[in-house]
Amino acid sequence: MNNIVTDCPVCNGKNTLEMTSKTEEIPYFGEIMESTLLCTKCGYKHSDTICLEQKEPVRYTLEINKNNINTRVVKSQTATLSIPELGLKVEPGPKSQGYVSNVEGVLIRFESAIATAIEWAEEEQIKENALRILEKIENLKSSDGTATLVVEDPFGHSIIIHDDAKHRKLSEDEIKELNTGFITFEK
Ligand SMILES: [Zn+2]
Repeated sequence: MNNIVTDCPVCNGKNTLEMTSKTEEIPYFGEIMESTLLCTKCGYKHSDTICLEQKEPVRYTLEINKNNINTRVVKSQTATLSIPELGLKVEPGPKSQGYVSNVEGVLIRFESAIATAIEWAEEEQIKENALRILEKIENLKSSDGTATLVVEDPFGHSIIIHDDAKHRKLSEDEIKELNTGFITFEK
């Protein structure tokens, strides 16, 4: 584990930004480096996961339900993550972060993004749709709901680690379709 202390680019605090990095070996995947920036003055935080090996563009899918929500997921900064049945998608963008988590952690991240959207929504229709999606996520986590988790990464730095997870190489056309953006949800 490495620790570096430096000035914060956000609040200009002197020696308030702590940068921590560590490497970890992920089975069937390779070595990754997780790094976290945290400012003790203004609270600025950013974390990222970098795969240290060259990989092929890849698409992983897994039918998720309450029995496999502990499945490990490595999502790099370049990955697009989606659950088509729920109309949920998070695309890589300037603010996207890489992380190592599990399916439940992915769902919790979607939930908090939707909760924020509900707060900001002005139209009743959008709020209702968002609440319906939250209900479906809850159903996935604790009841009989199922859906497909899709992870697409043009750099192959992401993975769903489960025997039932399917994976294949992304085609050139699919790679072109993957764009940058922010968390979106529809329906
Ligand atoms: Zn700061």
